[in-house]
Amino acid sequence: MSFDTFLMVDWSGGNDRGSTPKKDAIWVCAARGGIADDPVYLRNRAVAEAWITAFIADERAAGRSVLAGFDFAFGYPAGFGHALTGSDDPFAVWDWFAARVKDAPDNNNRFDLAGQINALFPGIGPFWGNGRKRDIPHLPRKGLDRANHGMREKRSAEKQAKGAFPVWHLSGAGAVGSQVIMGLPVLSRLRARFGDELRVWPFEPLDQPIAIVEIWPSLIAKAVTATMPDGQIKDAHQVALLAQTLSRLPPDQVRAMLDVPYTVEGSILGIGHVEMLENIACPPAAPPPLKNDCFAMPQGAHWTPVDDALAHLRAHLATVTDIETVSLDQAAGRFLAADVIAVRAHPPAPNAAVDGYGFAGPAGEGVQNMPLVAGRSAAGRPYDGAVPAGHAIRTLTGANLPDGVDTVVLQEDVTATQTAIAFHGPLKQGANARKAGEDLRQGQMILPAHRRITPADLGTMAAAGVGQVQVRQRLRVGILSTGDELRDPGSHADSGQIYDANRPMLCALIGRWGYDVVDLGRAPDDRPELRAILDDAARRCDVIISSGGASAGDEDHMSALLEGTGSLALWRIAVKPGRPLALGLWHGRPAFGLPGNPVAAMVCAMVFAAPALRVLAGGDWTTAQGFQIPAAFSKSKKAGRREYLRARITDGRVEIFASEGSGRVSGLSWATGLVELGDAAQTVAPGDLVTYIPFGSFDP
Ligand code: AMP
Ligand code: MG
Repeated sequence: MSFDTFLMVDWSGGNDRGSTPKKDAIWVCAARGGIADDPVYLRNRAVAEAWITAFIADERAAGRSVLAGFDFAFGYPAGFGHALTGSDDPFAVWDWFAARVKDAPDNNNRFDLAGQINALFPGIGPFWGNGRKRDIPHLPRKGLDRANHGMREKRSAEKQAKGAFPVWHLSGAGAVGSQVIMGLPVLSRLRARFGDELRVWPFEPLDQPIAIVEIWPSLIAKAVTATMPDGQIKDAHQVALLAQTLSRLPPDQVRAMLDVPYTVEGSILGIGHVEMLENIACPPAAPPPLKNDCFAMPQGAHWTPVDDALAHLRAHLATVTDIETVSLDQAAGRFLAADVIAVRAHPPAPNAAVDGYGFAGPAGEGVQNMPLVAGRSAAGRPYDGAVPAGHAIRTLTGANLPDGVDTVVLQEDVTATQTAIAFHGPLKQGANARKAGEDLRQGQMILPAHRRITPADLGTMAAAGVGQVQVRQRLRVGILSTGDELRDPGSHADSGQIYDANRPMLCALIGRWGYDVVDLGRAPDDRPELRAILDDAARRCDVIISSGGASAGDEDHMSALLEGTGSLALWRIAVKPGRPLALGLWHGRPAFGLPGNPVAAMVCAMVFAAPALRVLAGGDWTTAQGFQIPAAFSKSKKAGRREYLRARITDGRVEIFASEGSGRVSGLSWATGLVELGDAAQTVAPGDLVTYIPFGSFDP
């Protein structure tokens, strides 16, 4: 069953609150399709009962199903109902109160009734608290005055919902006991009014278009506080927020929350799912803009070590993309905006790991003979009945284990006739069976925020009943080449001109990283033209990556323009190939000016831009994974800078490209990764272990 309309009711056990909206009164709010109506103030219970009844009737007349939540307990701690009514049926308690509660707007008999109930119990209590001046027989004014009444203080739900009040407490701040006594008669009449169309959670299966459930808005108190508009009445806001949140949940998540075992005590919707509810109620705020000085390095550093530059990026960059909800088929490669919670257990029920015969284990030593139950349990077609002890049933891989079965013997180990099987024991109890939830528990956090969703994650989420996830919008990355000498690949070029090698290379690289590539074309070495291109890029992109023109020369217009914004940091990084890396903000968009030389552009993109883009896109900071491999080359380097050499692996050893020239783009095609040599002086001889980082390790 899924629900079209969510109606949330904040109930009150007190007297009429007058005609102007006030706190601690009855507030209701409905939401459909993720949008809440305005909250409605209802001055007393008679008005509220009429309003709610008419609302539900109207929704049904419009063909809509309704889930109505009421914020008071639907049951009492186990044993109370039986003591009061002689029955274990929770509705007997509802009807008991419906027959005895007298409710007028300015007077009701709840305290007297509680005293009369206390008189039925031994000792003093369980009800306590008296809002009247006069003493009421059998009703202690203080909780501590109670003794030996035999009832548990809290329902299991109150133990799990921190801060929820026990049902015995009738008056004073936060007391809910009066709400229960004054609420159950109303629910009892709603049941009578809507008959077979209405079901009550968790006492009945919710297979009808009206469901009545117990709620407790304080379950999402954090989100209520965080989203509270100025001057709003809290009771009004919290019913609106809860209604809106429930109506925004995918139906499978609502069903997962409703999927709790029967208990006469009742339960509170959402226990165990608070994090998920709060994430929907109050999604993490849209990211703040980056600060203008975010790229500025500490003064005085002449050549910045690679690790310092990376640490600086890590400390100053933050996610810039907004959150959206997508279904799993759109989710691969996206960054999670919130933790993902298992909507159901995996496996959801105990099932068979092999084809064979199921029975109640263990099986003893020696030959085992078991009569077969007629029928079988197959995947998707479970056997409905119970299997008697000593009997077996044909059971196939993936089939739910019927009642009475916890062990499966492999069909290859069995001799079978139409009516019986024989096999050699022993066999341990639980053999060849999978336990419910042995892989994932319902409510368990399965994937953390900031993770990039892998194909395997899609499998895990699907198995855990998750159909939609909150992810970051795709990062839009603009790619620009700069330089008067550049021509488009395949076009005519004079001898003084070269082809733009960086743009196709960087577009493909960043596209492979899973971002939306915006090809910004080529910019000439002309400041006004470059400015116009950057202005346009800032409107269409979340981040701009350019190559060329990043140094401090006459024709280095990229760094000159960024300088003009006051946000430029021209990093002279102690790295080969690379060196000048211009970083700045253009209309608040981070801009990375990579070196023009293709090898340097590629290496700087992988070493600096890859982790930075990942953070901007909503991921966490990562470091490319390197491997220690014996060198097939010799080399000696000076101290003071890090070096990246184009490399590939042959016969288990790592070779390097013959030339280190940073214009030699062909070496990038030759290579499958980079050898990273540290900042210190180093002499490498063949056979020495060096760090090899495959190109793929730089992928986010
Ligand atoms: P620059 O950083 O602009 O001084 O450029 C450094 C070197 O890289 C020069 O030799 C440029 O011609 C070359 N270069 C710049 N951009 C590109 C590009 N997109 N494709 C190929 N080479 C480039
Ligand atoms: Mg240039």
